Amino acid sequence: MLAGAPACDDIPILRERGQREVFCGLTGIVWLHRKIQDAFFLVVGSRTCAHLLQSAAGVMIFAEPRFATAIIEEKDLAGLADANEELDRVVTRLIQRRPDIRMLFLVGSCPSEVIKLDLSRAAQRLSKRFSPSVRVLNYSGSGIETTFTEGEDACLTALVPEMPAEPGTARSLLVVGALAEVVEDQFIRLFTALGVGPVRFLPSRRAAELPAVGEGTRFLLAQPFLGATARALEARGARHIPAPFPLGAEGTTQWLRAAADIWGVSAERFAAVTGPGEQRARAAIANHRETLGGKSVFLFPDSQLEVPLARFLARELGMHPLEIGTPYLHRQHLAQELALLPAGAKLVEGQHVDQQLDRCRAARPDVTVCGLGLANPLEAEGLTTKWSIELVFTPIQGYDQAGDLAGLFARPLVRRAKLMV
Ligand code: SF4
Repeated sequence: MLAGAPACDDIPILRERGQREVFCGLTGIVWLHRKIQDAFFLVVGSRTCAHLLQSAAGVMIFAEPRFATAIIEEKDLAGLADANEELDRVVTRLIQRRPDIRMLFLVGSCPSEVIKLDLSRAAQRLSKRFSPSVRVLNYSGSGIETTFTEGEDACLTALVPEMPAEPGTARSLLVVGALAEVVEDQFIRLFTALGVGPVRFLPSRRAAELPAVGEGTRFLLAQPFLGATARALEARGARHIPAPFPLGAEGTTQWLRAAADIWGVSAERFAAVTGPGEQRARAAIANHRETLGGKSVFLFPDSQLEVPLARFLARELGMHPLEIGTPYLHRQHLAQELALLPAGAKLVEGQHVDQQLDRCRAARPDVTVCGLGLANPLEAEGLTTKWSIELVFTPIQGYDQAGDLAGLFARPLVRRAKLMV
């Protein structure tokens, strides 16, 4: 535990192991390809992987999509040499056809893992071939190794060795985790007004603009699912700034303050810069308190955003979290969040989907936050659900998104109330 971090060892955590009902890490491609604008994600997988990507990204139509699946056919399963040759052929054709690609991710899947296709060697080989115009990296999004948001963690971890070294001990702030550009721009304005900086973001919008990292780098996590990325950054000398996550008025203020304290920003300046945004956020959230106040919420383990979300819903909207599930609980990164949860909050790490469904049905929560696979059956049983995937696709961080975040939970309740009239 970091010095000064609140103790969280006294919060009882139920650990469950059993069948999981979560998307695999390939899902992250849907938001990552929009973020790194000159990157391409090539999944080395099966038709199932291609279908998953198409349906997860189904609402978006691209003239030239920046992700695809190289299908491993049955003949590849028979002999590895074929699979490597085929992969080189597919990549060569892709790069010739798409000269705009500067960074290519080979994304591992269950099938590539099963046939032990060594994608890190393939990435090195192809990087050499296409150097310096295209960098080829690899990571795994396989359902055997990753859940839903861990694909982003694996992708960002692959980027860390590519980041240039910051000479000396020049101080900089690195914000880690894919954020919508509108949110990034708001944070840049706030940090600039506070005198905190220079501020850089991982992932960067373009492959050539990867931020520098070194001994003077202090980093704030913008997402709670980036444990491996944080470790890789620490191995390069950067230091984590413990903070709650920037969800809601309170979370955003505390997240900004954690960095401001390190930069020695005065309390007056901090209040002057953040006060108007915080007030706007509180007013926008208040619009939803009538709908959400006093309502119960049950969070299935899915995105790893569950703990910060429960904190926001309980403290800023007066909701009662009945159960807060999370696929993994990073105790150090979530220490500040755990300290803010209401007393007696029930935390569950891991998943045994049948047992959780039984508890959810028995509790009859007003709102259930869960994956797509569970939402339809629960809706059919009369429960009101919120798809957790929406919380990853929608800009929800920062002051100006706090009202939208509350609205995401209010909307299904309003809709059900209308249906019942
Ligand atoms: Fe399914 Fe595995 Fe492909 Fe994910 S990586 S879509 S879990 S086969």
